[in-house]
Parts: sequence; structure tokens; C-alpha cells
Amino acid sequence: AVGTEQAAAWVQAFAERVAEQRDHLTELDSAIGDADHGTNLDRGMTAALAGLQATPPADAAALLKAVAMTMISKVGGTSGPLYGTFFLRMSTALGDGRPAEVAAAFRAGVDGVVARGKAEPGDKTMVDALLPAAEALTDAVGAGEPLDAALRSAAEAAARGRDAVTASVARKGRASYLGERSAGHVDPGAASAVLLVESAAALAG
Ligand code: ADP
Ligand code: MG
Ligand code: MG
Repeated sequence: AVGTEQAAAWVQAFAERVAEQRDHLTELDSAIGDADHGTNLDRGMTAALAGLQATPPADAAALLKAVAMTMISKVGGTSGPLYGTFFLRMSTALGDGRPAEVAAAFRAGVDGVVARGKAEPGDKTMVDALLPAAEALTDAVGAGEPLDAALRSAAEAAARGRDAVTASVARKGRASYLGERSAGHVDPGAASAVLLVESAAALAG
């Protein structure tokens, strides 16, 4: 089951991937946004790790909630409140962390992002990576696959989802202001969402 240690390792791994990919994510955002996605997420996740160190959470749900609150309060960009909503909804749905609950909690997090940001599949946002990941995770866990294999399927689905909308025109967020000129560029939020799922899959291995 996914407990405090696993949740902490996931958050830590995501923070590391974001730090390592910060300039790349910002580069993607410079093409179709305002060149801050990598710095936004890095600032938020660095603050989140510091917060966890300062105030160790009692359990996995409290840990994800603390990360959520930091992302919401410390990240000025659109993506901060959206990632914050993801972690917050996930925290309330985590239960005792069995694979089916992890899949359901991940799904609840994604549903929260959709409810808050109102992006539909194909709008070229983080949702295009997160939604296929949630579906793959639910299907794989439902088929009886162990969580590590299910998370690897989810990471692959996220990457396919990111790539599937690269050619698309953005219909949400700053990239949508560019209209047709947003086509042919990787969406920064979809790219960071892949890192989030890959971070979980890498741990499980
Ligand atoms: P900002 O656009 O405020 O500078 P970021 O650069 O940090 O924020 O994040 C941009 C990313 O946020 C986009 O690449 C996209 O994936 C995501 N995004 C923007 N608007 C929405 C939305 N309404 N729903 C879901 N994701 C969104
Ligand atoms: Mg931006
Ligand atoms: Mg911005």
C-alpha cells in the first residue's frame, strides 16, 4: 500500500525531475506562453519540499495536502492552482493506499483539474497527459496488474497524450491566445504532467 514514505518519495522525485527539466519546461513555455512554466513549478516544488521538512506530515494524505497548499499559495501561474487542486483532491481520496484506491485518488485529482480549469480533452493542456494516465492506471489496476506495472502503463499513456496534442491548436490558457500558431509545439503543462506520472512509475520499479 502507498503510505507516507511512498508519497514523500514520489513528491521528492517529482521535485527533482522538475528541477532537472526546469529550463526545458520554461523553453517550451517561451514558444507558446510566457516562459515561466519551469520556474513556476520549480519554485512551488522546492517550497513544498521545504515545508515537508519543516512540518513532517502525519500520513500520506496530509503530505499531499501540504504540497497542494504550497502549490496554490506559492505559484503565481495557472499551473500552480491546477497542480494544487490535483494534489488536494488526491489527498482526500487516497484512503488506505491500496492500488485501487491509488488509481481512484489519481483519477479524483485529474477530475479536480478538469473541474477547476474547464479544459476538455484535446484542448492541449496538462489534462491531455493526465486523463489518459488516469484511464490507463484504472484499467491496469482493474485488470489485476501490480501497481508498479500499472504506473508504468500510466506514464506511457501520459507521454502519448502529451505527444498527441503537439500538432493541435491550444484552446485553453495563454497558448490559446496564439491561435493557429500554437500548433506544432509541445504543451508545457502536458510535459510537466508526464514528469509527475513518470516520477511515480520510476519509484515503483
Ligand atoms: P501561466 O500560463 O499562467 O504562465 P504556467 O506557464 O505555469 O502558467 O502553466 C501553463 C500550463 O498550464 C499550460 O501549458 C497548460 O498545460 C496548463 N493550463 C493552462 N490553462 C489550463 C486549463 N484551463 N486547464 C488545464 N490546464 C491548463
Ligand atoms: Mg507560463
Ligand atoms: Mg505566467
